[in-house]
Amino acid sequence: MHEMSITTNLVELLNEHLQGCPGARVTRVNLKVGKLTAVEPDALSFCFQVLTEGTPIEGAELKIELVPVRARCLQCQSCFEVKEFYFQCPRCSGKELETIAGDELDLVSLEIEEDEKDKG
Ligand SMILES: [Zn+2]
Repeated sequence: MHEMSITTNLVELLNEHLQGCPGARVTRVNLKVGKLTAVEPDALSFCFQVLTEGTPIEGAELKIELVPVRARCLQCQSCFEVKEFYFQCPRCSGKELETIAGDELDLVSLEIEEDEKDKG
């Protein structure tokens, strides 16, 4: 599954962030996911839940912002949103396009809760 390897990388990245602050827990993870990545947010959340079980990231809220696909026509230079993976310029019907957004998969930010109390 596509989402499993993405989530594995994400969890590794989060663990790196956590290394400097022992006892801290991740409460929220903000992601930006382009629609071109064909990532299913539900599948991603599910993998996230499975992979973070028993780690300081367990229970964190995964917030996924879907980014629409945008492209620029190389013929007439107009920019437009690509819907339903229909890669054609709405202005001149050109098919030579450059993708300018929609293929990102970014960790935007994460919220960490420092645990100052001793837990038995
Ligand atoms: Zn065009």
